[in-house]
Amino acid sequence: MPTLNADLHCHSTVSDGTLTPEALAARAKANGVELWALTDHDEISGQQRALDAARALALPYLTGTEISVSFCELTVHIVGLGFDHHNAALLQGLQRTRCGRSERAQEMAEQLRRVGIPGAFEGALKYVSNPELISRAHFARHLVEAGVCKDMQEVFRKYLTDGKPGFVPHRWASLRDAVRWIVEAGGVAVIAHPARYNHGPTQEYALFSEFKAHGGQAVEVLTGCHSSAEAAQYAEMALEFGLAASRGSDFHGPGESHCDLGALPPLDARLRPVWELLVERVH
Ligand code: AMP
Ligand code: MN
Ligand code: MN
Ligand code: MN
Repeated sequence: MPTLNADLHCHSTVSDGTLTPEALAARAKANGVELWALTDHDEISGQQRALDAARALALPYLTGTEISVSFCELTVHIVGLGFDHHNAALLQGLQRTRCGRSERAQEMAEQLRRVGIPGAFEGALKYVSNPELISRAHFARHLVEAGVCKDMQEVFRKYLTDGKPGFVPHRWASLRDAVRWIVEAGGVAVIAHPARYNHGPTQEYALFSEFKAHGGQAVEVLTGCHSSAEAAQYAEMALEFGLAASRGSDFHGPGESHCDLGALPPLDARLRPVWELLVERVH
C-alpha cells in the first residue's frame, strides 16, 4: 500500500523533540497518520508510552529509534523500526551510544564561552527532559531564546556544524553495530535522510553497500528535510540498491520542523514501502 499515510520518524521529549510521546500520538491521529513510529535519538525508553498511547487511539504502531553512527568521519543516522523494545543487546548498545553526550555538551559550552557566549550548558539543560540525551537541538533552542540567533537554522549554520566554534566531533556507534542491534532485535534498519550527509559519491556508495552487507533493508526517501528533487534522487538509489523505502516527517515540535506529522506526499509507486516488510511487527 504505497498510499498508506505512514509517518515513521519523529522525536519526543525523550530525546530532542518538544512534545511528549502521548501528545505526538494524539497529533499523529488528528493529522490522519495511519501507521506511526516514534524514533527518539539513541533511546527507546519512550516506546512503551508511545505504544500505549497509540493503542488507546487505535493508531497502528511500529517501535522505533534513530541511532547516531560514525561513518567515514561523518555522523550518519540509522532508523530502526519494528524491533522488540525489551531486547537486551539493543538496550545496552543504545546506552553505550548515549554515553559521552554530557561530556561533549560541556565541551561545546566551553567552546561557545570562548567566542563570547557564556552559560550555554546550563541554558541548554533547561530544555532537556532526559539527562542522558542532551543534543545540539537543545543548545539551538537556548541560543535562540537568549537572542544570540534569530532561529535554529542560524544557530546550526554559525555555531553547531563541522568547522564552527561550538561543534565538537563525537564518536558514535559503528554502522555494523547499529544495524546488527536493530536486526537482531527483530527490526528493520533504515538509512535516515540520506541527502543530509556531506559525503562524496564514493563514500555514499560505500555507505549504501556496507549498510546492505550488514543487513540493512531500507532508506528514507520521503522525509521533512528532503526536497522533491532529493526524494526523486533517493527513489532511484532505493531501486538501484534493492532497498525498501521509508517515509517520515522527522517532526521535532510545532513551529520547529519543516514538515508536520502525516504531511508528506505519497511514496513513488515503483518503490517497496518498508512497512510491507514489517506487517507482523505492527502493534
Ligand atoms: P546531536 O545528535 O546532538 O548531534 O544533534 C542532532 C540534532 O540536531 C538533529 O537530530 C536535529 O534535531 C538537530 N539539527 C541538526 N542540524 C540541524 C539544522 N540544520 N537545523 C535544525 N536542527 C538541526
Ligand atoms: Mn533531533
Ligand atoms: Mn537525524
Ligand atoms: Mn530524526
